[in-house]
Amino acid sequence: MTFAVHGLAVSRGVAIGRAVIVAASRIDVAHYLVPAEETEAELERLRRARVAVSDDIARVQKSLAEMGPADAHPELTAVLDVHLMLLQDEQLSAGVRHWVVDRHYNAEWALTTQLEVISRQFDEMEDPYLRERKADLEQVVDRMLRVMRGETSPMAAAGVVDPARRDSEDPLVLIAHDLSPADMLQFKQSVFAGFVTDVGGKTSHTAIVARSMDIPAVVGARSASHLIRQDDWVIIDGDAGVVVVDPSPIVLAEYGFKRRQGEIEREKLSRLQHTPAVTLDGQKIELLANIEQPDDTVAAIKAGAMGVGLFRSEFLFMGREGQTPDEEEQYRAYLRAVEGMQGLPVTIRTVDVGADKPLDRAASRSDDHLNPALGLRAIRWSLADPSMFLAQLRAILRAAAHGPVNLLIPMLAHGAEIRQTLQLVAKAREQLDAAGVAHGPVRLGAMIEVPAAALTIPLFLRHFDFLSIGTNDLIQYTLAIDRADEAVAHLYDPLHPAVLHLVANTIAQANAQGRGVSVCGEMAGDVTMTRLLLGLGLRSFSMHPSQILAVKQQILRSDTSKLAAWAQEVLNAEEPAALLAD
Ligand code: PEP
Ligand code: MG
Repeated sequence: MTFAVHGLAVSRGVAIGRAVIVAASRIDVAHYLVPAEETEAELERLRRARVAVSDDIARVQKSLAEMGPADAHPELTAVLDVHLMLLQDEQLSAGVRHWVVDRHYNAEWALTTQLEVISRQFDEMEDPYLRERKADLEQVVDRMLRVMRGETSPMAAAGVVDPARRDSEDPLVLIAHDLSPADMLQFKQSVFAGFVTDVGGKTSHTAIVARSMDIPAVVGARSASHLIRQDDWVIIDGDAGVVVVDPSPIVLAEYGFKRRQGEIEREKLSRLQHTPAVTLDGQKIELLANIEQPDDTVAAIKAGAMGVGLFRSEFLFMGREGQTPDEEEQYRAYLRAVEGMQGLPVTIRTVDVGADKPLDRAASRSDDHLNPALGLRAIRWSLADPSMFLAQLRAILRAAAHGPVNLLIPMLAHGAEIRQTLQLVAKAREQLDAAGVAHGPVRLGAMIEVPAAALTIPLFLRHFDFLSIGTNDLIQYTLAIDRADEAVAHLYDPLHPAVLHLVANTIAQANAQGRGVSVCGEMAGDVTMTRLLLGLGLRSFSMHPSQILAVKQQILRSDTSKLAAWAQEVLNAEEPAALLAD
């Protein structure tokens, strides 16, 4: 039966594929498709894992039996019996076999997929005793996964999906309750044609990464992961924020047409790659790229970016179980980005973890009872651990010896934070000098993403070479809206007059002093905002490479001499959105 689920449109385009439902806690198992000739080997891996876990349980049962009656644990013996029974369960093994043989899933993926299917049946059971057996099943599956982890290839162990291994015709779309930014990174090279998550806001980092991957995505779709079943056909309309499940042939044909139209539109835009971004009245506009990893520079160059305006370095730190990358590893990553940009400037932002970008899942859970967006994130986190911060600063300064680098500091609000940061930058240089290690000059920039900063711009202009407005957080903190919370997503308003005033004020003061200012939040890549930002005097925009050509198209059609007065009207309007629609 066809039905639709509504969420937030976060990454454009249409994707059509079979649903792959993944529980958040199981994201980090490998997901790849095995060629037909290797399915037998996958089944054999499963069989060996099952035997190993059974043997293990049998061993424990034996030692329990050898204990005296005083030490025997009848409950434990009963649990182990249940586990053994579940391991032999026909529904589990037949289901897993189906996913491997018919769908070509790798062993771990097949196992967790079938776990999802059976878990739902457990959830629906009336009998509380039987319902609780779900936890036993999860334990059994976890043990098998652990056994298999010792046998998987390094690529599979890293959870990387290799498109070259695709052997099935049906495209796949991923449906999850939640995906952390680190999970999303794992899927960057993936077989998935689109994403749907139950939670998340428009500028949540999950949404941002989906945009950077340039694949259709809908977030905040509430109960999508419960309503959609494994293997359902699903259409993701990333423009409208709609997910159509089990579509009729007519609906499928309609969306197929829409998808092709989108492809034609992209093809047209691609012709603008080498066109300079100059307005009708001759104003040159700088279009920069936001990247998460050094390899993203390929897309940046392809889109004609004039540099990297924001390298979110925290993505190098995530999903590593709290182990931060050392100076050498960071240096190599920054160097790759610098080399990738072929002489164009690279703006490296120091680590911005915390809030919706936890280092790992355990950290995110421990934050549950607090308000992480207001906690120890970004520069606060760095200043709390000076040796970690110094290692990052040294790595960035070393990379600057190989090409133009800008050093950008996130979330500053206090004069004391600015002073401490600058002292640490100077100290990092001294350390490199003392060790005789080469380093280069950097332009120093501050992110303006807290209202306190936007209201004290002269302080920032005294200490920094340039400013970069992080509108995602500036909106969140100005309007007291958690950017990752879909329940308040309707209040997340880039056009709120308070937000516009802070943005306008920052641009005007930086321009008045001839200092560089750009916007690197999602507002910069939103084509409906391009004319307004130009009218407010912005000449530098940083966004995901996938958005650059569409924004350039707007710029080529704009006349800034006519936009300035209009932008002031928008700024003072009670309903700015109404003026923008004209
Ligand atoms: C922002 O806040 O606008 C920004 C660019 O930083 P991030 O989205 O990484 O918090
Ligand atoms: Mg930010």
